[in-house]
Amino acid sequence: MENGPRGAIIQRDRATYAIVPRTPAGIVSPEDLENIVKVVRRYEIPVIKMTSGQRMVLVGIKEEDVENIWNELGMTVGQATAPCVHYVQACPGTVVCRYGKQDSLGLGLGLEEMYQTMNLPAKLKMGISGCPRCCGESYLRDIGVVGTAKGWTVIIGGNSGGRPRIGDVMAKDLSDDEARDLVRRLLEYYRDHGRPGERTARFVERVGLDAIRKDVLAFAPYVPVEETRSE
Ligand code: SF4
Repeated sequence: MENGPRGAIIQRDRATYAIVPRTPAGIVSPEDLENIVKVVRRYEIPVIKMTSGQRMVLVGIKEEDVENIWNELGMTVGQATAPCVHYVQACPGTVVCRYGKQDSLGLGLGLEEMYQTMNLPAKLKMGISGCPRCCGESYLRDIGVVGTAKGWTVIIGGNSGGRPRIGDVMAKDLSDDEARDLVRRLLEYYRDHGRPGERTARFVERVGLDAIRKDVLAFAPYVPVEETRSE
């Protein structure tokens, strides 16, 4: 992305680009949608693809059109290649879902806003779910948070890629503030101790869960859980 037009990813044809407008937790406004439709028609963008990260990729853009498209969209660039938070996916939670136990959408939007510019060793994805049904895929994301009737469960080290890994539970039954505090501690620890290019799944395997717990949870006002792979 760095050597091409702003916020653009070169495609397989080595001639056209894709862009990913930032849509925190998959939320878009009517204005966003209208602007997307306008640029897709005006610049004859051939493909609009929904991603697993609750984002919309516009694919097949000519290099000379990229900057004009960003200006007409009026949306910020969603990260797609840089070592940072790429996205926070969140299910609707108590905002609309009848199964919801916690406000996953509110927590997800807050975390996305807070950490979208944080530099990290590698790309990082978060998944926030409003109940143990886990529609936010929280156990398969670098940082996962799951709502229960007792509060939030925070998870680290999940990955759904070529070397998949189910994340480890760090703490349970947390309040909103405690969950945000633990996510911050985990991100800062990973930022300070991760190797370049090392995703959290490999980081947890290398450093060890006990070491992470010992350092991250020192002086934390909540108690870690003993089990690591299940609730
Ligand atoms: S995880 Fe629970 S609250 Fe979220 S969408 Fe699924 S069923 Fe609803």
